[in-house]
Amino acid sequence: MGGVASLAGAFRENITMNYCSQCGQPVSLLVPEGDTLPRHVCTGCGTIHYRNPLIVVGAIPVWEGKILLCRRSIEPRKGYWTLPAGFMENDESMQEGAARETREEALADIEVGELFATVNVIHVNQVHIMFLARMLSPEHGPGEESLESELLLPADIPWADLAFPSISFTLERYLQDLERGSFGLHTTTIRRRRSKG
Ligand SMILES: [Zn+2]
Repeated sequence: MGGVASLAGAFRENITMNYCSQCGQPVSLLVPEGDTLPRHVCTGCGTIHYRNPLIVVGAIPVWEGKILLCRRSIEPRKGYWTLPAGFMENDESMQEGAARETREEALADIEVGELFATVNVIHVNQVHIMFLARMLSPEHGPGEESLESELLLPADIPWADLAFPSISFTLERYLQDLERGSFGLHTTTIRRRRSKG
């Protein structure tokens, strides 16, 4: 894992906070009165800096039986394939976030459909939420965070080169449901970090 990934990981995993973002004084890690977990509490102004899981929203964009994947141009997991997905922003719905990420990463317009998969990714403090989606045209291409984008038949999915376990889970369940002819809602929990990458 490279330097950028390590920095991002440290930030996402709530490992370090040294100074208060409100007043600049040092923070201490302690359990506030009435709370049950240690928090970063400012020694100057008393602000409690809560850090909670982040939501990642994404889509399974489909055009005429093919699934849109993109290959990451950024860490973590640079060079590996993923469904369009990313951190949800303030002032948007989950569905708007999934459509935005698909536009940004794969330059494709989608109609977001039903909720399809939720994945608790405990070791990075994230929840990944994936939606079914229909592409509004076959047009796509690599956005700034992608090296390339491809519409792939199920048989051509690069299983060994997928970026994240949550993406593998989502695609496996999608193909199973496709075979059954009925799409459900799927949930799993991933607790361990990968051994490589
Ligand atoms: Zn402060």
